[in-house]
This record gives sequence, C-alpha cells and structure tokens, in this order.
Amino acid sequence: MNYDNNNIFAKILRGEIPCDKIYEDDFVLSFYDISPQKKIHALVIPKGKYVDLDDFTVNASSEEMVGLLKGINKVAKKLGISVDTGKGYRALANISEHGGQEVPHLHFHLFGGEKLGKMI
Ligand code: 5GP
Repeated sequence: MNYDNNNIFAKILRGEIPCDKIYEDDFVLSFYDISPQKKIHALVIPKGKYVDLDDFTVNASSEEMVGLLKGINKVAKKLGISVDTGKGYRALANISEHGGQEVPHLHFHLFGGEKLGKMI
C-alpha cells in the first residue's frame, strides 16, 4: 500500500489537526488517543511516512528504528507506566486488514494505568 498523505495522523504531524500531545522529538510524536480504551491510552507514531510496521521494518533507517523504540520508552516513562516509573503497560500495533488497522500511518498504542487483563 502506498502512503496516503491525507491520513489523519499525517495531518496531525503537519499541525493541520490538533492533538493532545504527550511527547515529541526528532523521530516520534506521541499524543492521547481520541477514544481511549483504557485508563491510559497513548499513541506513538514515527515522524517518517510509514504505512505500518512491515513498511517501517523494510524501509526505515536504523536511526529511525532506534528512535521509535526509544520514543515508546520515553513516553511510558513520562506517563508513569514504564517498568521503572510504574507497573507496566501494553504496546500494540495493528497491522493492515486482519490486524484491524484503521489509520494507515504506523502507530503503537500504549495501554496502561490499570490491570489490562487478557490480551484478546
Ligand atoms: P488503529 O485501529 O488504526 O490501530 O487505531 C487508530 C486509533 O486512532 C484509534 O484508537 C482511534 O481512536 C485513534 N484516532 C483516530 N482518529 C484520531 C484523531 O483524530 N486523533 C486522535 N488523537 N486519535 C485518533
């Protein structure tokens, strides 16, 4: 799938649509999900144009990959849900049709702030 420059997260990255920002650096932007599924529900997205995790894994630079993983950890720390600042969390990426991905810009959901129960 080609990257759609008009997807909602691309618009958020360009500042055309507002978001409730949690964290930003050269590699990632993080903001709260508009429709939270758990007590804490954050999204972490890479700044580069990647449709999903497969696209990112094949096409992103090593620097971008490290930046995304470190970004997830920084956000978890900031939210007080990382292993060292809290009680843990769940990081989840939906990928394409069977994964139930709705927004075609790679994003990790971070769920936490409460016991999450079974995965599915
Ligand atoms: P997906 O199903 O693609 O993994 O998740 C997309 C997520 O993006 C959903 O949890 C949905 O609530 C969230 N979302 C969709 N549109 C917006 C928006 O405009 N702002 C924010 N903050 N989240 C959004």
